[in-house]
Amino acid sequence: MTNKDRVSIPGRFLSPIKNFLESELLKLKRTEKSIKAADPFSDETRGLTNSAEDDLDEQIGHFDSEIKASFVKKQIVQLRKALTRIKIGNYGVCEKCGKMIDTDRLAIRPETTVCIKCEKEQE
Ligand SMILES: [Zn+2]
Repeated sequence: MTNKDRVSIPGRFLSPIKNFLESELLKLKRTEKSIKAADPFSDETRGLTNSAEDDLDEQIGHFDSEIKASFVKKQIVQLRKALTRIKIGNYGVCEKCGKMIDTDRLAIRPETTVCIKCEKEQE
């Protein structure tokens, strides 16, 4: 194995990325909590005093919360994945093809774990 085979992002770049990802993760967890709190279905007294119209509003509110929550959940999973890759030392390496991810791409989307080519193929 030559040095060329084992490319990785230097540590001095990784620690700000790690800090960023960790703070994003915290933010997302807070967002997730507030989405859950805003979900009308999380209100225990719901339905007791509701009119049909209220029910509809709540259905829509719940649906909206579900969509937001699943979006946030996906982002959380992605951030955790990126953090794990920093820990095991293969951050910046595409998890599909094993090539280095473009650093410009990482600068814009530090949570990404696939290169632009593989992401396009995924779509
Ligand atoms: Zn790739």
